[in-house]
Formats: sequence, C-alpha cells, structure tokens
Amino acid sequence: MSYTGPPLDPFDPFGAPRPRRSPLRRGLTVALAVLVPGALVGWLAYTTFGPDGEDDGGSSAGAATGTASAPRWPNPGNGKSGLTAPSGSTPSGSASSGEGSSGAGALVGKVVVIDPGHNPTNIEHTAEINRTVDIGTHSKECDTTGTSTNSGYSEARFTLDVAHRLRTLLQQRGATVKLTQDADRPYGPCVDERARIGNAAHADAVVSIHADGSGAGNRGFHVILPGSVRAGAADTRAIVGPSKDLGKLIAADFAEATGTSPSNYIGGGTGLVTREDLGGLNLSTVPKVFIECGNMRDSKDAALLTSGAWRQKAAQGISEGIVSFLRG
Ligand code: ZN
Repeated sequence: MSYTGPPLDPFDPFGAPRPRRSPLRRGLTVALAVLVPGALVGWLAYTTFGPDGEDDGGSSAGAATGTASAPRWPNPGNGKSGLTAPSGSTPSGSASSGEGSSGAGALVGKVVVIDPGHNPTNIEHTAEINRTVDIGTHSKECDTTGTSTNSGYSEARFTLDVAHRLRTLLQQRGATVKLTQDADRPYGPCVDERARIGNAAHADAVVSIHADGSGAGNRGFHVILPGSVRAGAADTRAIVGPSKDLGKLIAADFAEATGTSPSNYIGGGTGLVTREDLGGLNLSTVPKVFIECGNMRDSKDAALLTSGAWRQKAAQGISEGIVSFLRG
C-alpha cells in the first residue's frame, strides 16, 4: 500500500503537535540563513517541514543540530576515512557483492540490527500507532506511517528494501543480522521497542533506515546521531561517542557508494545531525544511528530512491560504514 498524505505535511499525517519555536531561535535561524545565502531556500523549507527521524512532526527546540566538529563537504583529500565529496561516478567496488578489503568473514561474531523505519501497514492501524510511549525525555507516538514520493512510493517500502539488501551484504561478511520488523506484523514496532530490540540483541551496531519528507529542492542524505540524554529510562551517555564514530563512517561510505551529497537543508553540509528527541536513539544502549537516505518529496532525490540500482548502492555504502566501524 502506498501512502499519499497531504503534501504540506507529508510526514505527520496525524497532526502531532510541533514544539513552539522561541523568538531567539527564530532570530538565529534568520541570521544563519543570511550567513549562508545559498542555503536560504532550503533552510526555510526545512524549518517549515521539520526533520523526519521517526516522522514525529519535528524535533524539540535545539535538538536537531549540525555536528560542528565534523569534517565538511567537499573534502578535497578524498580519503576513505574522511567525509568524501562524491565525484558523481559510481564506486569502483561491485554494488552487488560483499567483496572488498574487509573480506568475507570480517564480521563473524558481530551482531548488527537493522531497523527499517515505519511499517507498510501502519496506515491501517492509526489508533495503535498513535498511542504514546515513554522515550525517557517525553512521550511520543508509538510509530508513524512515514512519508512517500509524490508518485506514491512509500518510505516504509523503501526502508524494507534497503534493509533486505543491507542484510544480504552484512551476512556475506559473516555478521549475524536481525531486523526489527520485516512487514511481518500489523504495525510498528513502537519506537521504544525498536530500541529495545537492539539492546536485547546486544547489537554491536544498529542502523535505522529512513527517507525524509521535506520540501522540494531539499536534497541529499543525513545521518542522525544520538545526543547526550539522561532522563527517565533514557541514558545515551555511553553510546554518544561510538554512535558518532559509526555515523561518520556510514556517512562517508554512503556518499562514496551512492555518489550523492550530504543534505543541503540540515546539518550544515556535514551530513550529520544530532538529535535528542528520537525514542529509537534515546532508549538505545548500543551504538546506533539513523540514516535519512534522501528526500522523497524532491523529484530528483525521488528518482534515486525509487531506483533499485541506487538502493543497492545505498545498502553498499551503509554496509561499508558498518564494516569499518566494527573492524575498528
Ligand atoms: Zn522515517
């Protein structure tokens, strides 16, 4: 089933309340936009639409921030370990195999949990997914439907497809791989359960796969890192560091494998954003990041996201980042 939500609020079809923004923050937004004229249109569109993440209708004030210490694109060094500016060409490695310097058995003994964002049949279970769960810092919806392209290709279908491709690649390296859902349940899991699945698996790394629902013209990917949170059941202090390492590696390899650039509307060109309002991160006790692979509401990004060949490259990039992280 494809989701075709209202275009002005594609990722929050149930009207979850958005946090108010302070005059100070508004002023800061304007100042930043003036400082970066090229980002003005994208930034204003972003502030209108808000980030995706768990598609909860936005972040807490100040929660979504670029990671200032991260290297910026483009990186003329073009080093494997840096955040590399894509050349536009396809990577030299095969997009369909697990070949590479890391070897077939590189991840033997490692556990990776893949969290495909949303669920294709969430839309049939609005009452269930709208009930709130405790994410430590506050309560929020169990789950959301996710966004879709303008032509109706749903984020939930996208995340499952990339998850399957990624699972295959990681298993070829010898990893034990678990999915939080595989369209094998009527809805969800809720965001708190998504985190706890990774915890219970004692995962060495967890990646939650998403695609954003921002305005047309907003393009590119970004990786969401957990902020330092200690509230209620949430305590991310031990995972902030390793999750940042994981996220930076995934961002670099994703850019290289897909030939796409980091987001032009969030993260200040770093492709990295830190958030403290996502249950899937707040409740995780193991290294975990989200990746927003692109913007489904931009026609150029949508052309990539709907391509199976591109999704294979996306999975390859995420896989390579995980391999780099787990091999230390
Ligand atoms: Zn999402």
